Amino acid sequence: MVDSDFEVHDPQVLAQAKAVISASETPRDWAKAVVAAVNRNEEWRGKRCLNLLAPEAPTSPTVRALLSSEIGTRAAEGHIGRVNRWFAGTRYIDEVEALCVELLKLAFRSRYADHRLMGSMLGNMAVYNAMTQPGDVIMSAAQPFGGHSSNRQDGPAGFRGLKIVDVPFDPVELEVDLDAFARTARQARPVLVVMGMSMTLFPLPVGEMSSIIADWGGKFVYDGAHQAGLIAGGQFQDPLNEGAVVLTGSAGKTFSGPQSGMILWNDPNLTRPLADTIFPVLAATHQVNRVAALAVSAAEMLEYGKVYMAQIVKNSQALGKALDERGIPVVGAKRGYSRTHQVIANVKQFGGGLEVAHRLAKANLITNKNLVPGDKPEDWDRPSGLRMGTIEITRLGLREADMATIADFIARVLVHNEAPEAVMKDVEDFRLPLQTMYYNFDNGYPSWMEA
Ligand SMILES: *Cc1c(COP(=O)(O)O)cnc(C)c1O
Repeated sequence: MVDSDFEVHDPQVLAQAKAVISASETPRDWAKAVVAAVNRNEEWRGKRCLNLLAPEAPTSPTVRALLSSEIGTRAAEGHIGRVNRWFAGTRYIDEVEALCVELLKLAFRSRYADHRLMGSMLGNMAVYNAMTQPGDVIMSAAQPFGGHSSNRQDGPAGFRGLKIVDVPFDPVELEVDLDAFARTARQARPVLVVMGMSMTLFPLPVGEMSSIIADWGGKFVYDGAHQAGLIAGGQFQDPLNEGAVVLTGSAGKTFSGPQSGMILWNDPNLTRPLADTIFPVLAATHQVNRVAALAVSAAEMLEYGKVYMAQIVKNSQALGKALDERGIPVVGAKRGYSRTHQVIANVKQFGGGLEVAHRLAKANLITNKNLVPGDKPEDWDRPSGLRMGTIEITRLGLREADMATIADFIARVLVHNEAPEAVMKDVEDFRLPLQTMYYNFDNGYPSWMEA
């Protein structure tokens, strides 16, 4: 039994909302309070912060504008085409959606693509529904090594009633332990191995793992939520060419589009089971404004992805090195810090991930706490690690030399114990002149690149 005012949300924050609502009688004021909070966020996070959250990406002006376009008020469900739809009047919507599908196929060099699910969480749910039966065994990575709840007991995989066996990892190098994997997999005989890494520094051994499980018809699914942009830009591994049968991705991470799920595959035999799950199981109307924005971000990726994603990786390598040089231990130092958009620091000595992330946020440096090897899954609320990402700072036009400046800000708070409020002033001075998003058709490349 829980008490009658039980809430999962922070009761203090809900109490503030209730106070705002009871301070006025008019719904107009309540609406104003919502808009004011949105505007405060834009002023702070949008203009004055260095956003180093790895799963966030700024969209281009065109993509952002499309998210509030008229087409988003129209209803479309089901598959593209006159007969497939329930509603009439979808002529232009079909055009937009077909462009989205075809541009995604081009961006990921795949035979099939789906654009309809709101997030990767649902994309993974579609995969589990289409490719497993309750009671089946799958293997996935545990959270301290970077795994995601999508593929674990508490997420879609568990919800599907799957038995989940951990993919063994080398806890120091943060790599799949291939020998241990082969042994465990041969015993467990998983129908799927699903690798979805939210902490991701280096490519995965997709080919080796796929060929081990092929012995009993096991399939490899690459949940590339984080890496989708790097994959599309050709700056990481190419899972569908290395043995994965399905690639899922979140368009709002490195892909730098609107928050969306994407599913890519090549095998025509998967098309019906996946499509039948997407509609009518997980989506009816599917936000055509988001689909239009996704289509344009796919075109941006085709034009700018290679250079943009390469710069993201160069920046994370430079940021990792600069932090390391300033006395902040960085995971993967021996292997060059990172081949992705992420930098993972172990900040246990500075108070742990939770404390450090909140201290940095007071200096307008936005990061997140993260489990790192050595932590237990139950340490999720107070882990030792800190995860940083270079997507937004790269799209703002920054390059390697700027990473030393950012590392200095971070070190002043962590290593030199400066008051975050003092550092914030300098972060704002650095950030305020940077207000243009590059690598898109609106603004092109950063000017230093064109010179
Ligand atoms: C972020 C993430 C997801 C969930 O993506 P959404 O688009 O937010 O639903 C799934 N898998 C992995 C590995 C992730 O990192």
